[in-house]
Amino acid sequence: MARYRESVCRLCRREGTKLFLKGDRCYSDKCAVERRPYPPGVHGTRRMKHSDYGVQLREKQKAKRIYGVMESQFRNYFKTADRMKGVTGENLLVLLERRLDSTVFRLGFAQSRADARQLIRHGHLLVNDRKVDIPSYSLRPGDVIQIREKSRNSVRIQEALVAAERKSVPAWLDLEVKDFKGTFRNYPSRDEIALPVQEQLIVELYSK
Ligand code: SF4
Repeated sequence: MARYRESVCRLCRREGTKLFLKGDRCYSDKCAVERRPYPPGVHGTRRMKHSDYGVQLREKQKAKRIYGVMESQFRNYFKTADRMKGVTGENLLVLLERRLDSTVFRLGFAQSRADARQLIRHGHLLVNDRKVDIPSYSLRPGDVIQIREKSRNSVRIQEALVAAERKSVPAWLDLEVKDFKGTFRNYPSRDEIALPVQEQLIVELYSK
């Protein structure tokens, strides 16, 4: 699978906002958006005026980068969201939040979605007591996510849980820290998904 291998802080600077892709560093004064609040590259400090298309494109890129999803996969999520009942933009965000990597991150078992993907690929996660090593695995209400017993002493997971203490777990998830366990209670509503994305602009972009 194609992967982005450059500095992820460049992505935040390109979008002009913090995408929280690096865990603890994002909350420190070392954050690149705080230190250099302009787009990367030689023309970064120039004022840019975006067309409607440009604004829609940036919004789509922002969502894609937050969830760490490649273009073809993101487009497939959009197609699925479009076929579902309800508001397409909201459906799209719910589909993205149903991903196992996003949920592992939201529960605080990993400091970023990229870390969560690695934990999952390395087989540290169980869903309903069965090992799942697919980061895009789509969760359903009632699914129970748990760190495998032999992985619980991992420094990385312990550090993530300490860092997670300053964040709250979203309303659609339950966390039982002492059992390294979380439950995907229900599909989130748009109000519950705290995300700096205007999903309607993504719908407009793909509907052209
Ligand atoms: Fe983005 Fe985090 Fe890097 Fe700041 S530290 S630019 S929020 S990835």
